[in-house]
Amino acid sequence: MITLDDCRRADAEDPLAGLREQFSIPADLIYLDGNSLGALPARTPGRMDDIIRRQWGTDLIRSWNTHGWVDLPQRLGDRLAPLVGAGAGEVLVADSTSINLFKLLDLALQLRPKRRTILSDTGNFPTDLYMAQGLTRFLGRGYSLRLVEENELGEALSPDVAVIMVTQVNYRSGRLHDMARLTRLAHQAGALALWDLSHSAGVVPVDLGGCDADLAVGCGYKYLNGGPGAPAFLYVNQRHQGKGFPTLSGWFGHQTPFDFNLAYTPAPDIRRFLCGTPPILSLAGLEAGLELLSSVDMKLIRRKSMNQTDLFIHLVRQECPDCFQLISPENAAERGSQVSLGHPAGYAVVQALIAHQVIPDFRSPDIIRFGFAPLYTRHTDIWEAGQRLSAIMRSGEWERPEYQVRHSVT
Ligand SMILES: *Cc1c(COP(=O)(O)O)cnc(C)c1O
Repeated sequence: MITLDDCRRADAEDPLAGLREQFSIPADLIYLDGNSLGALPARTPGRMDDIIRRQWGTDLIRSWNTHGWVDLPQRLGDRLAPLVGAGAGEVLVADSTSINLFKLLDLALQLRPKRRTILSDTGNFPTDLYMAQGLTRFLGRGYSLRLVEENELGEALSPDVAVIMVTQVNYRSGRLHDMARLTRLAHQAGALALWDLSHSAGVVPVDLGGCDADLAVGCGYKYLNGGPGAPAFLYVNQRHQGKGFPTLSGWFGHQTPFDFNLAYTPAPDIRRFLCGTPPILSLAGLEAGLELLSSVDMKLIRRKSMNQTDLFIHLVRQECPDCFQLISPENAAERGSQVSLGHPAGYAVVQALIAHQVIPDFRSPDIIRFGFAPLYTRHTDIWEAGQRLSAIMRSGEWERPEYQVRHSVT
């Protein structure tokens, strides 16, 4: 039996508890959707204001040099690198996750020119699959995306596979893939491994270098707290740098963009994966988010995250037994920082929770997703979310007609 006092004690003993003050979160809100849009760091508005008024407003175009705007994508990449087990010069912050997937799939296919297949799984996030479909359609010549079930990726590594594209933490179930094992299997089959870290960077310790991963991408607005639509990142293992010819050959990826040559020569380093002018205001928002993470030990974050997802599962079973199906793995070591519950009227349950100031999200057709962000989620928030959820289930409040109406973003 878990009590409110247990949760209060867990907060009092939590070494990360002080970090919550570094965020602006409405006092009456229980925010369990940091896996979709991370909360606002308290320092971000001031930082953005300085960049807008002083750097842009006063210093204007000189800021590209005087405030180092021109190097910001690489500087932020280097700041992010330790969070994902990468080295200096291996990570770049640019564009969106979708665009970065295109760039790195393009590179992977060039690095394995005799092979024509991108292998992924039916649990992957749709944009990952759509970008692969778009790229293979554009290339023609027998290129294709092949999809198998999540647990069949290893066996499906036939000799035609150039690259496997896997999201480390499944966005629906929260299942955590074994990066070391799948990367090793891909390499044994002569293929490359491209990892999407959107649901792991900043909350699960990632070791791209230790796993010898080839390529990776990830999202800036989830656990990195970069703000809505924040720039994403990409990783290219040192051994693949300077190779291939970027199909998205924009001038910021040119070796010498300010020579204004007529022909494109890719930069020798990670900069070749820049495309157009970097979005400085958005990058500044991401920098503020990354600063908060840089000061924290990922092991502590992971330990708290595992405790919190366990706590929530126990509370749901205690407070509303038999209401939901647990979609996430039972074992904390096998899941990321979310708990997914299945319910046929999941959407309506989410709407009722939101009306009671608890924000999870919904993923079609029937999944309620609760994300736990160890930098700002308290154990008492989880207790309270469990109480409100059980009240809604017991009263049948979720059956009200207004909760059945679908909004365009779920
Ligand atoms: C959130 C997420 C994305 C988002 O891609 P955008 O280009 O930022 O819209 C992509 N892939 C995965 C696995 C995600 O979780």
